Amino acid sequence: MLQRQLGHITLDRIVETESADPFFDPIGFFPETTPEDWARHKAWLQPRAMDPVSGALVLTIQSFLVRTRHHTIVVDTCVGDQKPRSMPRWNMTSSGRFLENLTAAGVQPEQVDYVMCTHLHRDHVGWNTRLRDGRWVPTFPNATYVFSRKEYDYWATQSGQRANEGWADSVLPVVEAGRVTWVTNDYALDDEVWLEPTPGHTPDHVSVHLRSNGAEAVITGDLLHTPAQCLEPTWAMRADFDPDLARKTRRAFLERYGGTDVLVCATHFPSPSWGRVLPRGDAFWFEFAGSA
Ligand SMILES: [Zn+2]
Repeated sequence: MLQRQLGHITLDRIVETESADPFFDPIGFFPETTPEDWARHKAWLQPRAMDPVSGALVLTIQSFLVRTRHHTIVVDTCVGDQKPRSMPRWNMTSSGRFLENLTAAGVQPEQVDYVMCTHLHRDHVGWNTRLRDGRWVPTFPNATYVFSRKEYDYWATQSGQRANEGWADSVLPVVEAGRVTWVTNDYALDDEVWLEPTPGHTPDHVSVHLRSNGAEAVITGDLLHTPAQCLEPTWAMRADFDPDLARKTRRAFLERYGGTDVLVCATHFPSPSWGRVLPRGDAFWFEFAGSA
């Protein structure tokens, strides 16, 4: 299930990869958890969200393509191709799958009006640029890239950090090309698309809220990585900038949307990635929409 209608908005998942890489080992990913913690959840996580053979979590790397009556928007831009990365699966890839899937959804890069990044980690900025004649150029030449100023300013001080691997090839080139609009974390593009502050995973992480004709959705970014965190909102992911703030943000987000009809588009969840949050006991349950 790759496309949904949300009022007048057409929403597409543009999947780059969906895999259970060894890098997504549950305890490596959530360093405060134990094998016993995961044993409680294994039965329902497998096979969709946890590979039954390797035990690794299944994570999707994807963008959300948002087509309103006025704008074509790409939210997050995956890992990208030809980029030197420390993670083997992400290093110097050349599949072209992202652009193929964007084309399959009916959009050429030139037609994109806005690119929004929930945060500036390497798996959310990759296709901001592509290699042309040995230079990194904006993949979406006519788009305005919407960046949080505060998020950008933080990462500008973190050169050389692994979490910041995309900086030189996927962030700076769009700034230098003059394609960026700097915003605060409550920026509204119009009355159908706006940012929602969800800090913690990174200093000024945002989610993207969509509303059209009474229907609503929210694109999470990385405030959640696995549906297990709905039942265990205190589980902090290893790359969280401020784990306590991330926990607070996650719980507040789940409380805000739990039991509502808002479609939650969970960026890294396995297919179909979107669904509803339901209250369950003192925590929550992610009910995937339809079938994968
Ligand atoms: Zn991510």
